[in-house]
Amino acid sequence: MSDTKIPYKIYLSEDEIPKQWYNLRADMKNKPAPLLNPGTRQPLKAEELAPIFCEELIKQELDDTTAYFDIPEEVQYYYRTYRPSPTIRAYNLEKALGTPAKIYYKFEGNNTSGSHKLNSALAQAYYAKKQGLKGVTTETGAGQWGTALSMACAFFGLDCKVYMVKVSYEQKPFRREVMRTYGASVTPSPSTETEIGRKILEKHPGTTGSLGCAISEAVEVATTHEGYRYVLGSVLNQVLLHQSVIGIEAKAALDKYGVKPDIIIGCAGGGSNLGGLIAPFMGEKLRGEQDYRFIAVEPASCPSFTRGTFAYDFCDTGMICPLAKMYTLGSDFIPSPNHAGGLRFHGMSTILSQLYHDGYMEAVAVEQTSVFEAAEMFARTEGILPAPESSHAIRGAIDEALKCKETGEEKTILFGLTGTGYFDMVAYEHYHDGTMTDSIPTDEDLAPSIDAVKALNQ
Ligand SMILES: *Cc1c(COP(=O)(O)O)cnc(C)c1O
Repeated sequence: MSDTKIPYKIYLSEDEIPKQWYNLRADMKNKPAPLLNPGTRQPLKAEELAPIFCEELIKQELDDTTAYFDIPEEVQYYYRTYRPSPTIRAYNLEKALGTPAKIYYKFEGNNTSGSHKLNSALAQAYYAKKQGLKGVTTETGAGQWGTALSMACAFFGLDCKVYMVKVSYEQKPFRREVMRTYGASVTPSPSTETEIGRKILEKHPGTTGSLGCAISEAVEVATTHEGYRYVLGSVLNQVLLHQSVIGIEAKAALDKYGVKPDIIIGCAGGGSNLGGLIAPFMGEKLRGEQDYRFIAVEPASCPSFTRGTFAYDFCDTGMICPLAKMYTLGSDFIPSPNHAGGLRFHGMSTILSQLYHDGYMEAVAVEQTSVFEAAEMFARTEGILPAPESSHAIRGAIDEALKCKETGEEKTILFGLTGTGYFDMVAYEHYHDGTMTDSIPTDEDLAPSIDAVKALNQ
């Protein structure tokens, strides 16, 4: 089909919003390793997870074999408020790059929370409500997950307690106010409200916090308050399951025009948007039906895939969460505070970790100044102001498109544009003022936390 027939935006109709989530694990020969009880080191059973997570979500978390899960009607209803999201041909970016490559992006920033996180927040809030809970607790780093969850809790009538990494709490006061507008309470982490928060503050006075700390606090509060459970916006199998709507829609849109991507690219923090975007394509690859290249793009300042170790580790700093086998920099790892681009979690989804380990996926690490250079070029050509996290994927896509320019290959690239960057203007300001620096940890910087992981696995 000739290019001119492909619209700038490929929209699906409301009827084409997926009615089922796709569970990539069903098609994996090597399943991701099970979560372990940190005390006994035995695979966790559903009843052990029940004090922390909602029942229905535990079932999804532990199910490696069911390929499709029905999306509840109520969740579909709220999906209709902002889905289907558009799949967009980056004609202007292609022209600016002078590349023969064809670049498409799936844009998930078209809702007030500003990111793909709402896809899972709605599902998790729905199941919490259905279980008769009063509320949920969570952590948020840059604030997108907290915002999405606050919105979802407002829709379903749940209380929402958010522990926000202190550095973001201070840098992004407006994010905090959006969450409060949706009715959530927001506490900077580490706080003195929890036992684990007080311990962390004693050990690291003046710390700007990390996702790992905030997770520990949120879990402690959930397990010590009647009628509350903890919910998480990334990393977990259930989150990748919910995010499969991204990939299912993107594939349906491209299929309409007979377009098959050669390369699929996503930014990787905990792996949820990437896992969701690639899901149906990776399913085809695993079943031997099609071949694609998949590329995870991560920050050079928090390089879990490219410099981490594949081993069991804690998901949180307080070491109270289950052990997960993943690519990790160690639960003690705290990225440099001058890192502005989000994606600061020390570990990675067990699903993506296994796929990467088995050679189904590639990963690259990029520096933040080059990420903001890509973000600015994208804003000036495509008009959308991208989130710094999303801009890692833009960087990855531009780099692949520039390779095509050298070789003359007309490859088709699909990348995930996970969100907008309106709350990240301090970081943009640093970039524009030339005060943004790159901080790449040395091997010596990484050694202590990675050695701790190795010791844990002996
Ligand atoms: C949270 C977030 C990410 C990273 O999380 P993943 O679980 O790796 O997808 C990327 N982009 C945006 C806009 C986010 O809010």
